[in-house]
Amino acid sequence: MKSSPRPQAGEGQGEGNAHYKFNEQAIFQQSSPHLSPLPPAGEGAKNSMKLVILDRDGVINQDSSQFIKNPDEWIAISGSLEAIALLNQSGFKVAVATNQSGISRGLFDMATLNAIHDKMHHALASYGGRIDAIFYCPHAADEHCHCRKPEAGMIEEIGKRFSVDLTGVPAVGDALRDLQAFANAGCQPILVRTGKGETTLAASLTHADKALPANTWICADLAEAVQMILEMDD
Ligand SMILES: [Mg+2]
Ligand SMILES: [Zn+2]
Repeated sequence: MKSSPRPQAGEGQGEGNAHYKFNEQAIFQQSSPHLSPLPPAGEGAKNSMKLVILDRDGVINQDSSQFIKNPDEWIAISGSLEAIALLNQSGFKVAVATNQSGISRGLFDMATLNAIHDKMHHALASYGGRIDAIFYCPHAADEHCHCRKPEAGMIEEIGKRFSVDLTGVPAVGDALRDLQAFANAGCQPILVRTGKGETTLAASLTHADKALPANTWICADLAEAVQMILEMDD
């Protein structure tokens, strides 16, 4: 798994930067959960930081079965950028966790992925919103890594990097593997019907092995999901 900090452009809230400016060594130093001191009984579940985790394709931007291979193919879903800005204004940090096996397949390279994310950051900045960190898995399914969703590795890494207990952290996705990864990490899974969402929902109703994780919230799109997250936060 890799992560990239948001670009310098549009920056200005300096005190928040430390939350995503970690070096690789810090990741490895924190790699064993057994090294973390246990919280006192009855405490620790309450996070001082509010965090939301988002899948990218089909949640923030339109999905494509042909992969999003260049910035031109990255097109925001209506209302999604405003929704992220609303989360920010309500005190939430926003982290993205995205499978990008197109890198392993050679469909695009890291420079292109960064260019796609630059476009996303700049589009978001025009709405006054920000994504605090993007975590991506560059591997193909047959590489059997621990970061590719439905594995929970990428989600757990976000929890470590933000020092947040993931229990109940809202996490939004359009594919079953997103929801499974979120649920496996203890998050509150939220399905949106954009992207693959409608297909995911239909399959869950007809195939027992494609059932949604227990207590998955179902929303029309990210805008509705954010409304629900903010209502529950009150
Ligand atoms: Mg997706
Ligand atoms: Zn991976």
